[in-house]
Formats: sequence, C-alpha cells, structure tokens
Amino acid sequence: MARKPLIAGNWKMNLNHLEAIGVVQKLYFALPTKYYDHVDVAVCPPFTDLRSVQTVTDADSMPISYGGQDLSPEDSGAFTGDVSGAMLAKLGCTWVVVGHSERRTIHGEDDALVNRKVGAALRNRLTPILCLGEGEDVRESGGHVGHCTGQLDGALAGLSSEDVARVVVAYEPIWAIGTGKTATTEDAQEVCHALRERLRETHGDAVADAVRILYGGSVKSNNAKDLVGQPDVDGALVGGASLDPEGFAELCALA
Ligand code: PEP
Repeated sequence: MARKPLIAGNWKMNLNHLEAIGVVQKLYFALPTKYYDHVDVAVCPPFTDLRSVQTVTDADSMPISYGGQDLSPEDSGAFTGDVSGAMLAKLGCTWVVVGHSERRTIHGEDDALVNRKVGAALRNRLTPILCLGEGEDVRESGGHVGHCTGQLDGALAGLSSEDVARVVVAYEPIWAIGTGKTATTEDAQEVCHALRERLRETHGDAVADAVRILYGGSVKSNNAKDLVGQPDVDGALVGGASLDPEGFAELCALA
C-alpha cells in the first residue's frame, strides 16, 4: 500500500512567535507547491507560536500543517502549565508529538503516561506522532528491536484498531537525536519494519499497512532521501534541520 511520506519539523524550544512567521513564510516560498502532492509537510513549533503559525498559514492557504510538541493527558481542569488536546485542536493543529525522548528523559514520562496522551490526542481529533526509540546502551546490548516494540505496545495499549490506524509512529534512536550521528538506512529499516510487523500481529494487515512510520535522528538533506527511500520508512521527524526553512524545504523535496 502506498503511504504518503510525512516530513514533520520539531522546532523544540526554538523560535519565538514573530520568528515563527518568517520561518513558515520562507518554507512556503522555498518549496514549490507541486511537491505537496507527494509529501505532507508539517511543523511543530512551541505552544506560544501556534497562533502565529495558524494566522500565517490560513492567510495564504498554505498546504503546511502544524501541531504541538506535547499535550496534557487531561482535557481541562486544575493542571497548571499544561495545554490540552482540545486547545490544540481549536488552534487548527493537525498533529501533536507524544512521547519524545526529551520528555521521557527530562520529564520522566513513562509508557503509561504516553499511552494516556495518545488517547487524549485521538479523542480530540489530533494525530499523535508517537515517538519511541532506544538509548545507546540498549542498542549496544542488541535489545533495540524488543525495546521499541515494547514501547509501541505500551503506548497503544487498550486502543481500538480504528484508533491505532490514525497514529503516526516515529522511530527515534536516542543516540541519533541532535548528535549528528544518523542511523544507517539498514538500522532505520530494521526497526521500522519490526514496528510494522508488530502492528500486523496486534491489529492486522489493514492497520499495519496504513500506519506511517517515520525515522528521526539527525536527518538532513544529505541523508533524507536514502532514509525515506526504505520500504518501511514513511517520512521523517526532523529537529535541528527544520529550523532552517530553505534547508528544510530542500529536505522535503528530496524525500
Ligand atoms: C527530534 O528532536 O525529534 C530530532 C530528530 O532531532 P534532530 O533532527 O536534531 O536529531
């Protein structure tokens, strides 16, 4: 089954709401519209930029979608500092990153919380970009495939197959994030394939063949084409390289 590639930029905690406008406009002008038939292009800015990104993309009817980098597992209430899926949906978000390794490591998020956040995204009609991946120690011990399929099971526990079909999975080996050390195409394909086969076992062929599985970790314009060319790699989650709009546009065109 043909899956349309998705290239999503994770800006992390970079760019204020004014800078965001310039970056999105430059990205739009740098990527000719014909490419959007072949690739979905998204940006995930900080929460404080979302209203600006909404305004600029709406004003020019840009085919660039956007989303948050996290959400609360709750829909509203006394959760100081949190942002709900309903709030993101109201701002026109399509996506929300869930379970990024920086949140798992710095904020102690475990699979159970990631599972609740995936549920919160889905019930608010957002597409979760579910991040998972092994650290260097797990990779060196050879346990990376089991580690990643375990994280997948944990994050999707209790969801219907219909809901699982709406999730995007991003395989992001922690040792490759922000390090300049990219996984080889074989490494990326091995884990993305194993994740798809796990979905096949748990939710059947239709779900396994529909779910987009991205690779993330030091993706740049010089390696995007080979990585996204792998049979089970349906796009990329791009951190640092998404902050440069011209470079990111080139990467999207190559993918
Ligand atoms: C990320 O933050 O999801 C990421 C993949 O970062 P980078 O591309 O900078 O490695």
